[in-house]
This record gives sequence, C-alpha cells and structure tokens, in this order.
Amino acid sequence: MNYVPAIGMEIHAELKTKTKMFCSSKNDPDETRPNVNICPVCMGHPGTLPVINKEAVRQVLRVGLAVGGAIADYSEFDRKNYFYPDIPKGYQLSQYRYPLVIGGMLSGVALTRIHLEEDTARSTHDGAGDESLIDFNRAGVPLMELVSEPVIQSAKEAADFARELQLVLRTLGASEANMEKGEMRVETNISLASPKANSAAFTRLLTGSDADQNLPWAPLTLGTKVEVKNLNSFRSVERAIEYEIQRQTHALKAGESIVQETRGWDEAKGVTFSQRSKESSHDYRYFPDPDLPTLRISQIEEFKNLRESLPKLPWQKRERLTALCIKAEDVEMYVADETLGAYFDQVSAALGGDAALAALASNYISSDLAGMRKTDAQIAFPDPAHFAELIRMAARGELSSRGAKDLLAKITAHDADPHALAESAGLLQESGKRALGALADTVIAAHPELVAEFKGGKESVLQRLIGEGIKASGGRANPEVLARLLRERI
Ligand SMILES: [Zn+2]
Repeated sequence: MNYVPAIGMEIHAELKTKTKMFCSSKNDPDETRPNVNICPVCMGHPGTLPVINKEAVRQVLRVGLAVGGAIADYSEFDRKNYFYPDIPKGYQLSQYRYPLVIGGMLSGVALTRIHLEEDTARSTHDGAGDESLIDFNRAGVPLMELVSEPVIQSAKEAADFARELQLVLRTLGASEANMEKGEMRVETNISLASPKANSAAFTRLLTGSDADQNLPWAPLTLGTKVEVKNLNSFRSVERAIEYEIQRQTHALKAGESIVQETRGWDEAKGVTFSQRSKESSHDYRYFPDPDLPTLRISQIEEFKNLRESLPKLPWQKRERLTALCIKAEDVEMYVADETLGAYFDQVSAALGGDAALAALASNYISSDLAGMRKTDAQIAFPDPAHFAELIRMAARGELSSRGAKDLLAKITAHDADPHALAESAGLLQESGKRALGALADTVIAAHPELVAEFKGGKESVLQRLIGEGIKASGGRANPEVLARLLRERI
C-alpha cells in the first residue's frame, strides 16, 4: 500500500505599500543601491518606537476577504525572538496568537491563517573574500504570510495553489508577487501518511467510489513533516515536492524514519538537501510587543467597507469567461493578463456579444496579437471596433485565415478601417458566386483528366482542382465556395 502525501504551503509576499511596516522609510523593491531606504526604526536602534502601517493591515484584510477567511476582531503583534545579523533588534515583529485572518479557501485548499510581519534585511555571503554584506533596504518591509492546511495531495496541486495566490495578490494590487525577485517566497511542508497508522481511513479511501473527492483528511495521522525552502519558481515548487515525496517514500520503505528538518532546493541538481533541524515555535519565545497598540479591527475607520472595495477575483473572471465558450487556455490567459483580458472584453462587446464571433476573435487575440506583443512589448492594440470588423470579415469568408493574419498585422501597425486596408493590400478573398463560378468553369475546362478522375470516384482530386483555382485567382478565391461550385458543376 502506498503512502499518501500531505502537503501544506507557507507563502510570504512583500506588500506593495509606499512605506515600510513600522516606520516611514520607503518600501522600494526596485532600489538597487544598498542601505538607502533605512532609518533608526528599521535598523533596530534601541529606544525607537514602531508605528503600524495601516495600509499594510488593510491589504492583508482584503486578501483575507477575497479568500473567504474570517477577519479577526482582535489582533496584535508579537516579538519572535532570535539572533541573526539580518534582524539587528534580536526579534522580528510578527503575529503569533492573533493573526489578522483565520481560515478561508483558495484553489480548493483550506487555509489556516494569514498574518502580517516585517521582512528581514538581505544578507549576501558570496562577496569577494570571506565577508558577508547586509542590505537593510528590505528590513521592515511589510510581509504577508499565508499558511494552508496540509491537505494538498500532489505537487501539481501545490504549484497551482501558489499560482492562484499570485493572481489574487496581483488582482488586489497587494503585491507584485514576482517569485524570481523574491516578492513572493514559497515554502512547503511535506509529510507522508502511512497506511499502518491510518488503516481505517485508508480502507475507506481505497474502497470509496469517489476516493479522490472525499479523502478523509481529518482522521489521518500525519507523518513527520519536512519543510522545503528556496523555491524560486512554480516549476521548482513542483519539482521539489515530487522529489521529496520520492525521497521520503524510499526512506520509509527502507525502514528509516524521517527527520523533522528544513531542507533547501538545489535547482541545478534537482534535489533537496538538509539545511537545519527545525526549531519548535517554543524556541522563539513569542510575546506581545509592548511598544505597539493592539488592534480592534471593527473599530478602525479605514477597515470599514473593505468587502465592497474588492475587484473581480480570478475565479469570478474565470467563471464569466468560461461561459463565453472560448478555449480554456484563453480563459487563463485573460485572467492572468489584465491588458489582454480587457481587450478581449472590448472586442467582444464590439461584436455585440455574439458567442461564435467572440470565440473566433479570441483565437486571433490569444495567438496572433499576444504573439506580436511578445516580439514588441510596446505594440498598440488596434481600435476594438476595427478588430471586431476584421473578425466579421473573416467570418463572412471575405478573408482567408492567412489573409486575416496579414490584415491583423497591418491594422496593428497602422490602425485604420480594415476594409480599406484589405482592399488596398489585395487581401480580400473572392467569394462572389459569379466570379468563382467563372473560375470553376475555367479550371474544369483546363483539367479534363482531373475531372474524369473525380467523376470516377477519386474524392481527393477535388483538392487539386481547388488548388488550381486558388492559384489562378492569385490566392484570393475562397476555397469553401470554390469547392461547392466545382462539385455543382462536375
Ligand atoms: Zn525605517
């Protein structure tokens, strides 16, 4: 019997505020000069007094509302005591007993809590010689931490969860959440539930008809958990979890026990490696910070009506777009890419909400237009009315699919009426019965041997006749109309 993975996520995100969490130093993740956005508060000088950044609290509360969590009425900040050069005061201000948000659900995964803390300084150990360098620009930047229950069962599901959180943070404007810039940092904890310790639950799991849907998580006794850090991309989240499931499975099957520890991820080697054995929360000696006021959320003016301030969330956008019958990949593209999504909506509106035309438009937007923008990030999208007209022309057969692509490139370069552009560029497809009828007659007269073969039952010959017709028309004949006319005449 196999082990069942129980995966939990811990995700930190740097919040997009003007100033830091407890002082008025600038919060600028793009600052490249070290130690310029600092002051005695975020440098941890003795005797300084921190002040809570309400905007950071507001952003966490909005994330909490977006994921359906319960907003705490009472909250406070605690000192998490430890010694490290990147935290000169000797403690990090965080939230322990009273997080801002409790519970919630994201991507089908139950959330434990969301709290707020301050980021630490950035230390670099790879300078010349033996020295370590510390940059305090990041010290005191507001950091949101979201923790999930260990209910994720696969590496893919874990990566999807992280992707969805990134979308939510960006949609809310709470964080840029770029993983490669460290604005979103993913840690994951992985344990394997053994069949022996969970025989009753496993039996139900394996005999249930919908075993995947109704895993009996609550009664599962979880194994020893291992935390994995340094995951800088969604791909590494997925790879690291897959590796860790394999590693723990092999160890358990060999009769070894799992060590509770923190492991790092080596992207190049594709392995996790032991970093340190895990401190228990006890070691941090958490206690409420005496310098900061406690928070009564419901009584703070800035936190009222936050629910009404929420924009359309990714799953709401997804639901609306999915109902339009466009491709699933296109839906994801528009949910993730606001510019492209808004443009699709404008074109779709210009098409009067016609579902078939909108689906056709979506193909050109998601492949051609998105492709052009990849080559030239500054590209200006054409007037939605012009784009919509191009789609109507393509749907009416006035443009071949090649012609539509060429015309799209033209109206993107010089935004103008697509009819006039198509005409002057010779892109219009000939669909007129009279002109194509004459063309069909010419083709039939010029290729009696092919006509005879077709009459003899060789269907495929029709394609060659169509090809001859298109060649004769300079590529402008509508192949479908021509095919119909050829059949009628032969
Ligand atoms: Zn400061």
